[in-house]
Amino acid sequence: MHYLIITTGSCGNCYVFFSGTDTLIIDDGITYSKLSRSLSEHDIPISSIRALFLTHLHPDHSKGAGVLQRKLGIPVYISELSRERNGSILMRQKIEMESLRTYTFGEMVDIPGFSVSAFPTSHDSDGSAGYVIESAGRTFFLMTDTGVIPKEAWELACGADVKFIESNYDDDMLEEGRYPEFLKKRINGVYGHLSNREAVDFAKRTARHGESVYFVHLSANNNAPSIVRELAEREIPSGIFCHVCERGGLSEGFIE
Ligand SMILES: [Zn+2]
Ligand SMILES: [Zn+2]
Repeated sequence: MHYLIITTGSCGNCYVFFSGTDTLIIDDGITYSKLSRSLSEHDIPISSIRALFLTHLHPDHSKGAGVLQRKLGIPVYISELSRERNGSILMRQKIEMESLRTYTFGEMVDIPGFSVSAFPTSHDSDGSAGYVIESAGRTFFLMTDTGVIPKEAWELACGADVKFIESNYDDDMLEEGRYPEFLKKRINGVYGHLSNREAVDFAKRTARHGESVYFVHLSANNNAPSIVRELAEREIPSGIFCHVCERGGLSEGFIE
């Protein structure tokens, strides 16, 4: 399995999982040209994309969904709750309605090469989700844009070989920064984002020897990769590969 984080952060999010024949995309907050260029640079055929799953409908996770869906005719999956509550956003996305699929949390969805299940996250976008992805005996765990760690996540993360965990802000930088009070409250509130402290603590408590952890969705204004890196090095036991994804940059990995 070859996987890419094409970009992550408020500037756009897109995760790619390529089994060798089939590709699954999670979130598409980038342009079609950026996606197709990144895939071709990594020898992943765009025609191998079987489905797009969205964590939620904020533009940094979904703004490319409509174009990608229409160009390739692929299905787009969101939670049933997300579909129910976000009618006008979905209309604007121009996803063909017959290609829009829904799931319930905990349900296993099979697409060629992958089985995907979702758990609810706590974010200011109704029906937001995190994912567990299984392919060829490997398990990936993805949790982003959540104000608190959902109770389901603890057990789900323990079985994963590769984890993607939001590490959005440093408590002190947010507190002392220039953001207005209401925005600070949104970010560190129950429906906002995870702090470095919460992310690293979660990674530490669900750690399994030999696994890989990617810290994603770092804030441009309230965080710095070096802070996350230092915290992870201090807290997370050896034998776990930790990588901090720079905002806007590309990261990749392989797992047999
Ligand atoms: Zn986001
Ligand atoms: Zn969001």
